Amino acid sequence: MSTPKDPIDPLAAVKIINLTPHSITTPITLRPDEGPWTLAPSGVVANVIRWSMLAAPIGDIPTSRVSYGAIENLPNPEWIALPSPCDVPGAVPEGSRWCLVCGAQDGHHPPPRAVAVYYVVSSVVVEAARRAGRAIEDLLVPGQQIRDEAAGYLVEYRSLTRVG
Ligand SMILES: [Zn+2]
Repeated sequence: MSTPKDPIDPLAAVKIINLTPHSITTPITLRPDEGPWTLAPSGVVANVIRWSMLAAPIGDIPTSRVSYGAIENLPNPEWIALPSPCDVPGAVPEGSRWCLVCGAQDGHHPPPRAVAVYYVVSSVVVEAARRAGRAIEDLLVPGQQIRDEAAGYLVEYRSLTRVG
């Protein structure tokens, strides 16, 4: 006896865009009811411009130094605005400068927000985004590398890791 599947795909409401060159497949063992889920590469790869230059050798062993520049192909975050808890009558009492809900003075702390689009990127991109002051709640990093041991190359990833 098989039960009919819910025709509504819960992932249809959430956008996840893979900005890495690798596919990510969540195995059936982690989604026993829904089956495996695969996120193919979008064809666009987010990257950090980097350049390397020779640095002082250690004895007769050459070394290099890497510098990181701008991030390529990472869109700005997209948010879904959630109702502000401060949006209630009396949050800022008449004649007061303080909000009784969020505790801010002369205004409000930023209202809650949800991620509208998740981007899967490398951890190098996450670090560059963090350094640049970009939000990172919408960034995911692939986890659980699966390699073809014989051929020695990466086959795919098995999970998504939140970083923010
Ligand atoms: Zn407030």
